[in-house]
Amino acid sequence: MSVGFVCDERYFWHDARDDGGPFVQRGADMETPESRRRMLNLLSLTGTLDRIERLQPLELDPTDLERVHPAEYVASFRAQSDAGGGSMGDYADFGAGSYEIAALAAGGVYAALEAVVRGEVTSAYALVRPPGHHAERTLGRGYCLLANIPIAVEKARAELGVTRVAVIDWDVHHGNGTQSVYWDDPDVLSISLHQNQLFPFESGTTGETGGPGATGTSLNIPLPAGSGSGAYEYAWDTLIAPAVDAFAPDLIVIASGFDASGLDPMGRMLLSPAGFARLTRRALDLADRWTGGRLVLAHEGGYSPVAVPFCGLYVISELLGVEPPVPFGDFGYLDDLDDQQLNIHQRAVVDAARDAAVRSGAIPD
Ligand SMILES: [Zn+2]
Repeated sequence: MSVGFVCDERYFWHDARDDGGPFVQRGADMETPESRRRMLNLLSLTGTLDRIERLQPLELDPTDLERVHPAEYVASFRAQSDAGGGSMGDYADFGAGSYEIAALAAGGVYAALEAVVRGEVTSAYALVRPPGHHAERTLGRGYCLLANIPIAVEKARAELGVTRVAVIDWDVHHGNGTQSVYWDDPDVLSISLHQNQLFPFESGTTGETGGPGATGTSLNIPLPAGSGSGAYEYAWDTLIAPAVDAFAPDLIVIASGFDASGLDPMGRMLLSPAGFARLTRRALDLADRWTGGRLVLAHEGGYSPVAVPFCGLYVISELLGVEPPVPFGDFGYLDDLDDQQLNIHQRAVVDAARDAAVRSGAIPD
C-alpha cells in the first residue's frame, strides 16, 4: 500500500487566539499546534514518516476558494489577516497571516486528494491546520475558517473528473460545514458521526437528511456521550457502510478529527487509537469495494496532546497495513473499559438514525 502524507511547518504557526479568556493564567488553550506537532514527531520517531510519501500542499488561488465561499467572504478574510487578525464568525478568530495558512490547509487536502485520484498513492493523510469541517459558505465556525474538504472536492470535480464523493466525518463534533455546503447536492454524500449536541448545538440531528433533490445525501448519527468502539462500529456496520454502498462513490474522504478519543478535553467519547484504526479498516474496506482502494483522510479536531499523536499513528499504520510500531503508553486501559461495548441506549440512537436514513432513501429498506 502506498500512502501519501501532507504536512507543512506553517500549519503550526496559525494563531487561533484561543486563549481561554482574560481571567486565568495562559496555558489552557484548546486549539493550539501542540497535538498536531506531537503527532508529526511520533510519526518521525517511529520511522513511519520514512514509509510514507511526502506530498507538498498546493498554494490555492482565491478562485479555488470561491468555488465554495463567496468572493466577499474570501476578500474579508484576506483583508483582516493582512491587517493583523480578526474573526470570520462564531469561535473563528485568527491572527496575522492566517489567510495564507488556511488556504494552504485547503491546498494540503487537495494535494492528498489529487495524488490519490491520479493513482500516485493509494491513500493519503493530510495533517492540516486550521481544521475545516465547521466552516460554512459564509460563516467561519468552531476554529474553522475555510471549508477544506469541500474546497478540495470542488477543485477535484472541476479539474480531475471526480463525480460522486462520500465524506464520512468521525470528528466528535457535527460536520455542519460540509453538510451545509452539500445540502442540495445529490452527488456528495455527507455522513457525520458525532457526540449529540456538542457543537454546533443546533445541528446534527437524525432528521437532517438533505435538501429537496438531495434527500438522503446528508446523514447524521448523534451518538450519546460515553460512546465507545462498540457504538461507533455498530453505527458504521448498520448505517454508514450500507449508505455508502447504496451511494456508490468514486472517492471517499474522511474528516478525521481525533477529539472522540477517551482522553480528549473537548469531547466525552471513549475511542482509543486502536478504535480509530478499526474504523480506518472499515473505511479501507469501503474503498476497496467502490473506489479501487482510494481513500483520503483530512485532519480536523483533536485536543489531547497525549492521545492525538497515537490516534494518528495507529490510523496511518492501518493505511500502511502494518501493526502500530509502539503501544499507547500508559493509556492502553482505554481498550479494556466495559463501556467500549455497545450499550442499549446507544443502539437505540443508531437504530433511529438508520430508520431516518431508510426513510430518506439513503439505504434500501
Ligand atoms: Zn471536533
